[in-house]
Amino acid sequence: MEAIPLKSRAIAFAFCIGAVAFILAMLAGAEGRYDAALLSRGVIVALVCGVMSWAAAEHSIAGIAEAVDAASARISEGAQGDLSTPTPPQVAEALPELAVALDGMFRQVRANLDSVHAMAMFDPVTSLSNRTNFRREADRMLRNMPDERVAALFFIDLDNFKTVNDTLGHAQGDQLLAMVANRLRAICGAEAARRAGSDALVGRLAGDEFTLLFPEIDGEAGASRIARALLAALSEPFDLAGHSIEVGASIGVALRPGHGFTLTAMMRAADVAMYHAKACGRGQYQFYSDALGERLAGRARLENDLRAAIQREEFALLVQPQVSLRDGRIVAGEALLRWDRPGEGLVRPEAFLAAAEDSGLIIEIGDWAIDAVAKMAGEWSAAGLTQRLAVNLSPRQIGRADFFPRLRAALKSHAVSPRIFEFELTETLASDVGDNVLVELAALRGEGAIMTIDDFGAGRTNLSRLRTFPVDRIKIDHGLIAEIATDAAARTIVQSIVGLVHGLGCEAVAEGVEGEAELEMLRVMGCDAVQGYAIAHPMPAADYAAWNTVARSSLAG
Ligand code: C2E
Ligand code: CA
Ligand code: CA
Repeated sequence: MEAIPLKSRAIAFAFCIGAVAFILAMLAGAEGRYDAALLSRGVIVALVCGVMSWAAAEHSIAGIAEAVDAASARISEGAQGDLSTPTPPQVAEALPELAVALDGMFRQVRANLDSVHAMAMFDPVTSLSNRTNFRREADRMLRNMPDERVAALFFIDLDNFKTVNDTLGHAQGDQLLAMVANRLRAICGAEAARRAGSDALVGRLAGDEFTLLFPEIDGEAGASRIARALLAALSEPFDLAGHSIEVGASIGVALRPGHGFTLTAMMRAADVAMYHAKACGRGQYQFYSDALGERLAGRARLENDLRAAIQREEFALLVQPQVSLRDGRIVAGEALLRWDRPGEGLVRPEAFLAAAEDSGLIIEIGDWAIDAVAKMAGEWSAAGLTQRLAVNLSPRQIGRADFFPRLRAALKSHAVSPRIFEFELTETLASDVGDNVLVELAALRGEGAIMTIDDFGAGRTNLSRLRTFPVDRIKIDHGLIAEIATDAAARTIVQSIVGLVHGLGCEAVAEGVEGEAELEMLRVMGCDAVQGYAIAHPMPAADYAAWNTVARSSLAG
């Protein structure tokens, strides 16, 4: 409904006053009789009163009414989004307090809107564009760019940010991010000055991920130069609350038009390249390439297939025996995982374990394996096999809080004791495990399980850790064993390792023993047990008991 302007109301009011004056005049002059002269005198008095009231209202009320009408019109415009037009002058003249209040209100609303806008567009920690704003601006830049011009998108992920955040706290972490942002801005500034070209766009995508778009560069060489400058800037120590902090970064680079034309394509390419830089050992930059993209797509397909394989339980365990070099006894059988992939047969772990580890699928596969080995151990006990069942443990499995409870539950449900198990951890894993895992491993060992360090000589060994790690056996890596028949240095190394292992009070096991010559040398070196094709290939669990019976007589003989 349309509001009646105050001015119209004032005029109506004036006429009412006129009408009242007319009636009063009539009553005053009537004295009981009414004639035409009296009536006309009354009308004249009423008209004079009405006109005088109207004039007075016009002067005093109409000015205010006009101001109030203008103010209400201004508020309506404000409600439609106009926050900048100044308050009309008639408001300031007639109602100065209202004018001041209106000005203040619009100023406040504008300020609030500005800060909401800033919050929606800029990251409060670094004041850089946030993901939404970066995407919008970068999209606009790329759309307005001539097709032939080369642009570069850099994806930066800090290498050690999590450690800083965890050790120094979030406030220091935020400060570090702000310092990183400043260094990035400085590089963009230097680049803009160098080329006198258009400014680069910098954004913080999330956490410790930053992104830069340079809309005009000198091809791949230019992008490399900028990437080197970024790496150098971020590898300089940061001074944080009196600490000198080294962070470093991994950078992925995508070029337009070579690696993609749209922002989405460039971002995907730079992301792939950044993950490659991380995988290559961090602290470096990598360009996107089609081969890299294909490898990642292949990895994604593999992960999908693995997910389906878990649903369909397409896994199996093979068993490979270990034999004592002293008396030929079968001391253990190692359970080795296989993926019975439809159309491909039994796939070996190296084809899928890395993908399973990276995607976390190793947890589900590991759960399947825990149950399968416990079940196998139960079957062995029932068949009268007293040898140990060796099981490989992966870092992701063992680092999980409920790994040990699950393992124990599986042992319980198949009514097997830890005594039948041998747990194999690579030397790198053994060096890295936390104290809580050590306690669990030591407890299992206390209940009769054997602990073994796997692939010794192939990874990173913390020799002092060997002193404290609850270990019984050390498996010398296949890579070293393979050379002993032909290479004197390999022989010396293996001989020394056997001595070291014995010195620690452990048993030395050689793995990947393929030929009689190696077998003989290992026997001479005093190695305790061997595993490898020279004894037997890994075999289906169902064949293992039968193989045992045959082998026991032939090995003993
Ligand atoms: P690993 O623990 O070092 O296992 C020994 C590997 O050497 C096995 O490979 C075995 O088939 C192979 N091998 C045995 N004898 C010979 C030989 O004479 N010559 C050569 N060249 N190789 C021999 P496989 O089965 O492909 O397993 C590879 C790795 O996958 C294992 O290395 C282990 O680290 C991992 N793995 C296997 N099963 C499991 C599992 O159930 N869980 C976990 N987490 N990892 C597993
Ligand atoms: Ca092993
Ligand atoms: Ca091994």
